Amino acid sequence: MQEDTRIPPDLARYSRQVLFRPLGPDGQRALRQARMAVVGMGALGTAIATQLVRAGVGFVRLIDRDIVEASNLQRQVLYDEADAAAFRPKAVAAAEKLRAANTEVELEPVVADLTAANAETYLADVDVILDGSDNFQVRYLINDVAVKHGIPWAYGGAVASYGTTGFIRPGETPCLVCLFGDDPGGGHDTCDTVGVIAPIVQIIAALQVAEVLKWCAGRREALRPGLMAVDVWANEFRTVRYPPRAPECRCCGQRQFTALEAGSGALTVSLCGRRTVQVRPHQPLAIPLERLGARLSRAGRTVVQPYALRFEPGDGTAITLFPDGRALIHGVDDEAAARGLYARYIGM
Ligand SMILES: [Zn+2]
Repeated sequence: MQEDTRIPPDLARYSRQVLFRPLGPDGQRALRQARMAVVGMGALGTAIATQLVRAGVGFVRLIDRDIVEASNLQRQVLYDEADAAAFRPKAVAAAEKLRAANTEVELEPVVADLTAANAETYLADVDVILDGSDNFQVRYLINDVAVKHGIPWAYGGAVASYGTTGFIRPGETPCLVCLFGDDPGGGHDTCDTVGVIAPIVQIIAALQVAEVLKWCAGRREALRPGLMAVDVWANEFRTVRYPPRAPECRCCGQRQFTALEAGSGALTVSLCGRRTVQVRPHQPLAIPLERLGARLSRAGRTVVQPYALRFEPGDGTAITLFPDGRALIHGVDDEAAARGLYARYIGM
């Protein structure tokens, strides 16, 4: 095949994107200069990160607190059975797969829980933030950092067969607090209660990335003027125009960043519905996993990896411990039981 003279040689691998006129060589170079963070590397996050990395975004930070499980593989497209068998942290497994897809992109996997204490560290130094999280606690953290530092962010959520997305630009569009207040209401359906099918996740992720591509290329006129709600089972695609910004909004109006002031959070956090509870010490620790693993191996099956330790005492529960002291306690339903197991095997 003859070389396409319309494509600068350094952009050859992106030729199909560069040929798309609204992007062109300038848009492609803007993508190469861009720094982005993806919060959550579940179904949405893996779909988002795949597109960003293949598109040639210069720097992508991948943030996730969890490990790969077999039940993720139905929709979390970067993982495979070997990742689940090895209990690999999602951020690490994702970075490895993405590195193979595009070595030009600088990838930074972060195995951590996004909290008020670290949100600015991980999010304030990027140009765009993409939401791949599954809860509003994290989204309010993202929104506070975004408004405080003037960073646009792509909100996205998907459950069952429906999802919602919006591209929030501080100062231009309403922020998350303008749109939903500080409490979007409890009792939301979650993927753990009503399930989720892969097509809606892929659609919402694609809509998030599309807005980010437009924004990066400076194509403001093409940006969607509101939230988009999609239901692939009911065949609905709806754009809900943004209302005006709320002048009294505590976040983008009064610049009160209460989500960021909430301290480092509780000692325990329940992960919704799938018999896993997260336990986190107030201060990050530096746990020598090898040494602890040697001790725990006398009490049950123990696997020590560079990023995490997995321990199964044999009663149907399991502990995944990270070097900073954070642990996922599997096979329990309540926080007290999780705290008990943590105290018993990790010690506090
Ligand atoms: Zn606002």
